[in-house]
Amino acid sequence: MFKHIGRKILAVVGIAAIIGLAGLWSFYNYQQEQTALRQNERTMAKLTESVIRGLEAVMLAGHAEVVQSYADRLKTISEIQDFRILRIDGNEAFRDNATIRKVNERRGKEEFPLREEQQVIRVMEPSHPRFAAAVTSGAKAGAPVIHYEAGPDGHTLLTFLDPIRNGGKCAKCHGKDHPVRGILKLTTSLAPVEREIQATRYQSLIFLLGAVAGITLLTYFLIRRTVVAPILRITQAMANVASGDLSQQVPEVGRDELFEMAKSFNLMAGKLLATYTGLHYEQDKLTTIIQSTREGIVVTDKSGKIVLINPAAQQLLQKPVDLVVREGFLSLFDDPDNMRKWLDDRHSTIPETIVYKERTLNVYASTILAPDGHISGSAALIRDITEEKRLEEELRKLSTTDGLTGLYNRRHLDQTLEKELSRAQRYKENLSIIMIDVDHFKRFNDLYGHEKGDRVLEAVAQAAQHCLRKTDIACRYGGEEFLLILPSTDQEGAAVVAERIREGIEAMIVEEVKVTVSLGVAAFPESAAPTPEALVGAADKALYDAKRGGRNQVRQAPPATISPPPDKPQE
Ligand code: GH3
Ligand code: MG
Ligand code: MG
Repeated sequence: MFKHIGRKILAVVGIAAIIGLAGLWSFYNYQQEQTALRQNERTMAKLTESVIRGLEAVMLAGHAEVVQSYADRLKTISEIQDFRILRIDGNEAFRDNATIRKVNERRGKEEFPLREEQQVIRVMEPSHPRFAAAVTSGAKAGAPVIHYEAGPDGHTLLTFLDPIRNGGKCAKCHGKDHPVRGILKLTTSLAPVEREIQATRYQSLIFLLGAVAGITLLTYFLIRRTVVAPILRITQAMANVASGDLSQQVPEVGRDELFEMAKSFNLMAGKLLATYTGLHYEQDKLTTIIQSTREGIVVTDKSGKIVLINPAAQQLLQKPVDLVVREGFLSLFDDPDNMRKWLDDRHSTIPETIVYKERTLNVYASTILAPDGHISGSAALIRDITEEKRLEEELRKLSTTDGLTGLYNRRHLDQTLEKELSRAQRYKENLSIIMIDVDHFKRFNDLYGHEKGDRVLEAVAQAAQHCLRKTDIACRYGGEEFLLILPSTDQEGAAVVAERIREGIEAMIVEEVKVTVSLGVAAFPESAAPTPEALVGAADKALYDAKRGGRNQVRQAPPATISPPPDKPQE
């Protein structure tokens, strides 16, 4: 019933109108009643006054005997319930011979005949408060005593006790022993007055109901027009905004609170629309970036359900979207334990590198936390670094190998020799090196040209490599010189390998020509101290011996007097 604000306001106005008008109605009726009663009292007072005057006239004319019939006639008037003339002893006058006797006595003659039938009617006790009050009032020439009481028919009875004063002319017969001669008792019914009051009440009640209905109706229409309709407009617009239509605006009418409300609503809806449009625009941008980026992106909601897989992720995972969703975030790379570990490590900022389906991927998996610290989802950024890794490897190779022969270059040799030496020293193992130099290569170049020289260098490198184990390292030392590192090999063993190489190269025919090489072998700990310089120096010396000895031969470094490497000077 009171779901609508219009009805609530109407109820309040209606109740206020009913209370106000009912109060007014009661006050009006009370006033009306009082006025009617006062008016009635005045009329009654005039009536008793004129009756007393008439009574006096009749008495003075000496016709006391007609008074009783006069009183009886008055009783026949419908509103007059009772009419009596009482003596101050409370008995009804003109009924017995008490007064006649007194008067005749005072007059000294039988001036008034006695009644043949007499009755003593006690109407009121002289001591009755109202009767005594009327007598006292009469003595002071005061007003009559008025009394209201309920009548047998339910209507109110009004009783007038109007004192009849003992005037100057009365005293002639009645003497002057009391200022009050008697009391005129008149009782009338207020039925007509009450009926009139009742009728007025009904009429005013009907008027009141009409007024309430009128006020309520008028209020209803005014409230509907000025309050309910604007509120309904704003409420409807708000509902539309809530269901997603942010283009809502309402008319701004008047200058009251509803106008302010409409203005605020329009402002709010406008700002919402602008924010939403801006967000939408940003979202579009973000979506375009996510969809077109080469980085794979997979996102879950807080329940762990996958809600986003961009095309790059689909391509990198090489699985249909529905399968990825079904398997879940932890099984993105078919290894839930690993994924769980990555997610648990919340402080890691470095992506994990994995090989998945023959591709090298950088994966950065993390838990997304809301500002309040609660988990709002997980995300995985996947980057394909296969090509990067290949290029890196190529570059690494390029930086460590010689372009012509494919053997390791000098830089790599320096790093490796030092490393291998310290390892050999640590594990007390042997380490040998073989230094190779092509014989008379300058002349070869001069004879066959540089191009052919290069082919020969390639062939020599290959031949040397061919004779080595997997763990041996072949380097181009510079020009037509090569250095081979043979870990865990003693000098004798290395000399055997060197001889094999020499023989291989000697037997080799490259583009119809032949070359020979000289080789110098040195080893730790047999012939050199555990430093690259000492070892290379010893091998170089052995090579020099081979050259001096006629070339195309292997020479070993002489055994070294083992002395520990010099201590570093104290700083
Ligand atoms: P030997 O060693 O027998 O004493 O005589 P050699 O002629 O080889 O003497 P040396 O070591 O002085 O000469 C090295 C020559 O090797 C000089 C240069 O022309 C040649 N050489 C160095 N590097 C290359 C290269 O990359 N390609 C070619 N074709 N020749 C090279
Ligand atoms: Mg040389
Ligand atoms: Mg040479």
